[in-house]
Amino acid sequence: MRNAVFLTTLVSCATVLSCAAAAQAPGPARFDEADIRATIRTLSSDEFGGRAPASAGEKLTTEYIASQFKRYGLLPANHGSFLQEVPLVQITANTDAALTVSGATPLTLSFGRDLIVSTPRPQTTVALAGSPLVFAGYGIVAPEYQWNDYAGLDAKGKTVVVLVNDPGYATGDPKLFHGKAMTYYGRWTYKYEEAARRGAAGVLIVHETGPAGYPWEVVQNSNTGPREELPPGAAYHPSAQGWLSHEAAGKLFAAAGLSLDELARAAARRGFKPVALKLTASLTLHNEVRPIVSHNVAALVKGSRHPEQVVVYSAHWDHFGTRPGPDGKPQIFHGAIDNASGIAGLLELAMVYAAARPAPARSVLFIATTAEEQGLLGAAYYASHPLFPLSDTVADLNMDVMNVYGETRDMTVRGQFMSTLDDALKQAAQR
Ligand SMILES: [Zn+2]
Repeated sequence: MRNAVFLTTLVSCATVLSCAAAAQAPGPARFDEADIRATIRTLSSDEFGGRAPASAGEKLTTEYIASQFKRYGLLPANHGSFLQEVPLVQITANTDAALTVSGATPLTLSFGRDLIVSTPRPQTTVALAGSPLVFAGYGIVAPEYQWNDYAGLDAKGKTVVVLVNDPGYATGDPKLFHGKAMTYYGRWTYKYEEAARRGAAGVLIVHETGPAGYPWEVVQNSNTGPREELPPGAAYHPSAQGWLSHEAAGKLFAAAGLSLDELARAAARRGFKPVALKLTASLTLHNEVRPIVSHNVAALVKGSRHPEQVVVYSAHWDHFGTRPGPDGKPQIFHGAIDNASGIAGLLELAMVYAAARPAPARSVLFIATTAEEQGLLGAAYYASHPLFPLSDTVADLNMDVMNVYGETRDMTVRGQFMSTLDDALKQAAQR
């Protein structure tokens, strides 16, 4: 998302690098603020048009990254090429869609103000027709916490309404979903994935600025205009997925004779059961559907002792491109911080690793991924089409937004508690 701040600072990267390269003679290359500034300035210039996947800006961006990798002496990671093709489907939904709610108190929720909704299905017309609405708490199924918000619910054909973030955030209980730290279960991508696994016809996340980490305007900006999806393959996708503004959700629950606040409190307690709202949702989405091809950029520094083992550094190169602004004129979303800064960090790391003598023990793979803003699509594509076996891939340090605010001891880690890298990061932060 536009303002989802991932703070893996360059300081921490540098420290991790020095950990990884411990006992090696210092290489001839050094991190250089001027390089970082130059990369950010170039990638966020008007000429690059906000770096939308498959735009003219993509070509400029991927060529720039590949040429820097080449200049620093890295190897092309994809059979002689720095590029990995990522096939996507671009779906542009008409924004005149309204969600009609039928029941004791009928209600119409309008696109933009009340709800943001789109379809992951590459179809020109997709509809919800009288789909029963069910409140499914946080929409989480987590056996390791003995937590199942879908308990006893057959979600097939239904539209689930779920809360953003997780019960740990809501309660602050450190034993529950790591307390205030957001787990993957709290992310919107997870909510969509779980609803799809349950066969739901629709999924709507109730927005709230605190637990989401960004205001409603960010949801609006991130979800209007063309959006990309990976080709659907065999996996099931709901017809409609999106967000309800907190106010609209309040109205929806009131129409069902229920209190959103009360149900939200209940949903944070163990043993919560889904609640049928006794309302149905209808919606028709008209879409333009276009297959497109975007690219990840990948380069390798070959390891000296365990070249078959791969450590990955990644950062997404894309941003939101150019879209009509509030005055109707084209507005460039430059994405200097998100994520030209991450790419600048990636290129600096690539330069330093490529120059290190001796070379690092393991191979180091640098991947600039595409279509992150649409749901980590380039990264998801890489994970299902890896250039090196995943069984030999030991870690991925991803940079989404570098710290551009000065020295800090604070770090935000997305994907915390998933690996022993947390300990290395903690040590680096304490220095
Ligand atoms: Zn980002």
